[in-house]
Amino acid sequence: MKNIPVYDDVIAAARRIEGHAYRTPVMTSRTADEMIGAKLFFKCENYQRMGAFKFRGAFNALSQFSGEQRRNGVVTYSSGNHAQAISLAARILNIPATIIMPFDAPAVKVAATEGYGGKIVFYDRYTGDREQISRELSEKQGLTLIPPYDHPHVIAGQGTAAKELFEEVGELDALFVCLGGGGLLSGSALVARHFSPECEIYGVEPEAGNDAQQSFRQGKIVHIDTPKTIADGAQTRHLGQYTFDIIRKNVDDIFTVSDEELVDAMRFYAERMKMVVEPTGCLSFAAVRQMSTQLQGQRVGIIVSGGNVDIERYCTLLSKQPKT
Ligand SMILES: *Cc1c(COP(=O)(O)O)cnc(C)c1O
Repeated sequence: MKNIPVYDDVIAAARRIEGHAYRTPVMTSRTADEMIGAKLFFKCENYQRMGAFKFRGAFNALSQFSGEQRRNGVVTYSSGNHAQAISLAARILNIPATIIMPFDAPAVKVAATEGYGGKIVFYDRYTGDREQISRELSEKQGLTLIPPYDHPHVIAGQGTAAKELFEEVGELDALFVCLGGGGLLSGSALVARHFSPECEIYGVEPEAGNDAQQSFRQGKIVHIDTPKTIADGAQTRHLGQYTFDIIRKNVDDIFTVSDEELVDAMRFYAERMKMVVEPTGCLSFAAVRQMSTQLQGQRVGIIVSGGNVDIERYCTLLSKQPKT
C-alpha cells in the first residue's frame, strides 16, 4: 500500500485547513468527572463547520486537487456528514461535487448537502452498492472519488482534531474515539502516538455493527451487513485498507456500546453539558461510562464527533424513559 499517512501528514493537513476549519473547544464537566471518577476532556467536533469533524478530512483532500481534478469535480458516497463536508469544502474551493446518498439518510443531512450546493444521487443502502455506483460515475465523468474514510488525505485531515486536543491539554492516559470506517480513529491514533506515547487509544463502535472489533481481534478485515443502529454515522460494513492497517498497529482495543447507552449519553450531553450531540457522536462517552472502574483518577480524552441530528428524531430518542 502506498502513502500510508504518518504524523507529518497530519501537521501538513493542519496547515491546509487553518483558517477554513474551526479550532473547536475542549469542554470539561465537573459533573461528568465526578460521575466517572476521572478528569475528562471533551473535544467538541459537534461545533465544527457543518457540524462534524468530517470537514477536516474533506477540505484537506480537496485542497490537494490538481487544476484538472478541480475542473472535473469530486464524487463521494456517504450516509451524511461526509457528504456535507465534501459539499461545503467543494463550494469553498469552487469544485463541482456529486454525492451518492441512501434514500433514508436523515432529512437534515440531505437538506444540508443540497444547501451547500452538492448534487445528490440516491441509492438503497440495504441493496445497492454505493462504492460501485461512485466508481462508475468517476470513470464515466472523470470525477475524482474521495471516499469517506479510506484515503490518506482524509485520515490525515481527521487527525487534526486530536492534534488540537493534545496541544491544548497535554498528555492523556486514554483517548476514546467514535468509530465507523476508522478515518477519525486512525488519524487520532497517529497523533496520540506522537504526543502521548503511553496513552491508551480506544475505538468505540455500535454493538450491532462490531465489524471493527472483529477485524481487530481476528487480524483481518471482517465484512458485515449494514448494521441497524441509531448511530447512522457508524453504519459501515467494514474498515478500509489504510484504516485497518493503522488501527491494527496503533490502537489498544475496540469497544462496543448499545443504542440504549448511546441515548443515555445523549441525554447527559443535553442535560448536563447543554450540547446537542448526534447518536454516533455519543459512542466515545458511552464507552467511558461503561469502563469507569478502569479509568479511576485518569486523564481521559473524548472525541465528540458530531451534532447533526433531525430535531424530531432527537426528541423522540430522548423521550424514551431512561433505564439508568
Ligand atoms: C463519520 C462519522 C463517524 C465515524 O467516522 P469514521 O472516520 O468513519 O470512523 C463518527 N461520528 C460522526 C458524527 C461521523 O460523522
